[in-house]
Amino acid sequence: MRYIEPHAHMVSRVTDDYQDMVAAGCAAICEPAFWAGFDRSSPAGFYDYFCQLTEHEPRRAAKFGLPHYCWLCINPKESEDVLLATEVIGLIPKFLGRPNVLGIGEIGLNKNSRNELKVLELHVDLAARHNQLILVHTPHLEDKFKGTRLILDVLRSDPRIRPERCIIDHVEEHTIRMVLDAGFWAGMTLYPETKCTGARSVDMIEQYGSDRLWMNSACDWGVSVPLAVPYAALEMRRRGQSPDQVDKMIYQNPLKFLSQSPNFMSHCK
Ligand SMILES: [Zn+2]
Repeated sequence: MRYIEPHAHMVSRVTDDYQDMVAAGCAAICEPAFWAGFDRSSPAGFYDYFCQLTEHEPRRAAKFGLPHYCWLCINPKESEDVLLATEVIGLIPKFLGRPNVLGIGEIGLNKNSRNELKVLELHVDLAARHNQLILVHTPHLEDKFKGTRLILDVLRSDPRIRPERCIIDHVEEHTIRMVLDAGFWAGMTLYPETKCTGARSVDMIEQYGSDRLWMNSACDWGVSVPLAVPYAALEMRRRGQSPDQVDKMIYQNPLKFLSQSPNFMSHCK
């Protein structure tokens, strides 16, 4: 089995996780910028985090033979302070030329507030000006449907944004259709408690097909499973999907989307 982990917060994980992922067939890891579990107090905290994502974590992953990529932004959870967010967004362009950067993410909404929407628009403008891919986080539980709709409206209202260059992550049964119908990619996040289980993700593949769709573990500092993608692949096999169908979902699809960035797997091209 080979797979790409398109969404994992490895700065919060131990080296054993890297080892297990490589042993399970992981070929590359992509790490969106995320909330640290506490609010950073200044733009300098983000500057250091962006250095960690573009310099230090790739070196740690390389010890296990794994290419490491990242996405940059200020996470929606820290977007209430628009002044702080504006300063952090101002730091990002100087990191965009680094060789493991894939785009702007995970941006989006958390509580669907006015300030979050403002900061989302700033990020979308940043991505458009620098021709970057976009990875979007959608809100949790009861806020997800409305938040996903608001996010799609922001992306569609900017004529510079092409939906095939944006992935809307954490889709569930009630949001996947609107994302795919609008031409965007969709990500299914495999969490043991919330978001989506492996079995539910395979239900959605059976219902909606496997185009413009990927699966990720989104493993972080909370309750999450770094091997969730290969476990879901086993569930696909159990449900009668062929090895080629599994390979498409966990390797070829992320490769196709991420290869829109010239940086992704550039050593293999
Ligand atoms: Zn995440």
